[in-house]
Amino acid sequence: MMRKIYILLLYVMISSAAIGQNKTVAITLDDLIVAGSSEYTIDEIEKINDQLLSHLDKFNIPVTGFVNEKSLYVPGEIDRRTEILNAWASRKALDLGNHTFSHPSFHDTKLEDFKAEVLKGELITRMILDHTGKQLQYFRFPFNSAGSDSSSKASFEQFLAEKGYTIAPFTVESSDYIFNALYKRAKGEGNVEKMEKIKQQYLDHTDTLFTFFEKMALEVHGKHIPHIFLGHVNELHADVMPQLVALLQDRGYTIVSLSEVMKDDIYQQKDPYVGKWGFSWLHRWNTKNRIDWLRKEPEPNQQVLSEYKALN
Ligand SMILES: [Zn+2]
Repeated sequence: MMRKIYILLLYVMISSAAIGQNKTVAITLDDLIVAGSSEYTIDEIEKINDQLLSHLDKFNIPVTGFVNEKSLYVPGEIDRRTEILNAWASRKALDLGNHTFSHPSFHDTKLEDFKAEVLKGELITRMILDHTGKQLQYFRFPFNSAGSDSSSKASFEQFLAEKGYTIAPFTVESSDYIFNALYKRAKGEGNVEKMEKIKQQYLDHTDTLFTFFEKMALEVHGKHIPHIFLGHVNELHADVMPQLVALLQDRGYTIVSLSEVMKDDIYQQKDPYVGKWGFSWLHRWNTKNRIDWLRKEPEPNQQVLSEYKALN
């Protein structure tokens, strides 16, 4: 009898530990008002954002959108384009961050020019956030290229700190731009079957990457960590967001704000990586065996990759 009770207790402890792990993830979406904005009309951009926002409203999940203000400056359309940022900022759960004015890579840009990109890229976003009682806090590097030499990296980080910015890292991204390019083509052709297939391939790949980075966090840091997911404001996410949210929730995640996730100790450490590549902060922090883990990171399947290469 005692043995049975003991086993039952053990079972309860293990399952509540699994449930009580309190896995959290923040969703961040880059390149507002839309990724590849020059390829879209204002009507299309509004439609993508309306659909995305209607999903986010329904789930009432916090999301941080990172803005490239250059996409606002189209003669005759500035008001409508700015209204998209207003629509984001006016929602209590949503926040905006700075992603530079025109999305240059720090790797290819002089330090002073890159600083100017930050200042030029914050004017409208800061004003809009002020109106909603929010503060502009986060900066995300285009291509996540965060400094190719230690002196300009340190100097730029100091500049950001002086301007009151926190660098927005990410731990998981699943090459949504690749799937989005294929999705956009299929949608343009009205190929519903293909669209559904690409959505599923994207979700499967995202699932695989969460498995990979959870395993990596456990092996390298000895614990589950709160994750930051990076994607883009694009047609794919406007359509697939409900399934993406379901996937994260099925994996046991609660979706929380970027600020909530950033409170964890793991995000208090410095990014020691100096170089041009834009990989996960889990790789950056891992100075011991970075190359080994980078090699193990799963890529989208070969068929998806070759279809994407054929597009370009
Ligand atoms: Zn970007």
